[in-house]
Amino acid sequence: MSGDLLVVGSVAIDSVETPFGREEDAIGGSALYFSAAASLFARVRLVAVIGEDFPRASLGFLEEREVDLSGLARAPGRTFRWKGRYGFDLNDAQTLETHLNVFEEFDPVLGPEHRRAPFVFLANIDPDLQYRVLDQVDDPALIAADTMNFWIEGKRKALLRTLERVDLLVLNEAEARMLADEPNLVRASQVIRSWGPKGVVIKRGEYGALYFCDGHIFAAPAYPLEALCDPTGAGDSFAGGLMGYLASTGNVEPDNVRRAIVFGSAMASFNVEDFSFRRLQRLTYPEVAERFRQFKALTHFEAEM
Ligand code: AMP
Repeated sequence: MSGDLLVVGSVAIDSVETPFGREEDAIGGSALYFSAAASLFARVRLVAVIGEDFPRASLGFLEEREVDLSGLARAPGRTFRWKGRYGFDLNDAQTLETHLNVFEEFDPVLGPEHRRAPFVFLANIDPDLQYRVLDQVDDPALIAADTMNFWIEGKRKALLRTLERVDLLVLNEAEARMLADEPNLVRASQVIRSWGPKGVVIKRGEYGALYFCDGHIFAAPAYPLEALCDPTGAGDSFAGGLMGYLASTGNVEPDNVRRAIVFGSAMASFNVEDFSFRRLQRLTYPEVAERFRQFKALTHFEAEM
């Protein structure tokens, strides 16, 4: 069952401000951060759109990792743009501007290789686009998705329609509360699961992640980093590590999802060490494996008896 991993999501030009610096007009987007992380584990095929202003040559690092960019269309107009700011609470991204630009007219068309992918990730993007991708895939072993407040508020009905067809929803805690309209995360996960997804992963930034599935809860910590620079893309690189590991092992049983969540946490911890893609670009698999082992040591304890 192991194999290719299809992702649809945003490819963006981001301007980001954190307490540690700023980055203007950098490449970004949910699908790119996801691909940068997942490509260390599996063959990634990306479906998205860019405008005339996107520096396509800057994606060489993904081509080196054999990411299939044949589904990255170029359309007349400007690329999707996002401007955000983080305060000292790096868990809380404030969106200053969102310009959908070429995503307003985008109609994804999947090729045969895209359709056959056994693992599908609907990264954060318009839920109608996520749905149109699901209409074209053959019969994936696992469909996972992400979303954000922008879509929960603006396109709730379309999002709920997409969720009916999703196996695993990965979202952050503020989004889970907003989506379920429920402050308690255990109850929020139950509400969300009643709408379709069998599993829900709730990302809690520097506090780690929770996984809920059929009477089963798993809690993973975040890696305690001394130097943290830019949280942009942390959620997407988390999802990339998680889905990349699942695709490479071909096993979607809860015990393997637990390991996948730890790989996701490891990828997010690397991503936030530098601005934009700088850390993910130079990251190697042995470094990831070493951090996975550190996670195991971090959470290990002996029962007294
Ligand atoms: P995160 O992993 O949650 O930090 O996601 C960061 C990325 O999400 C940025 O690179 C943005 O370009 C992208 N993004 C922000 N808002 C949206 C949106 N409404 N739809 C799709 N992608 C977005």
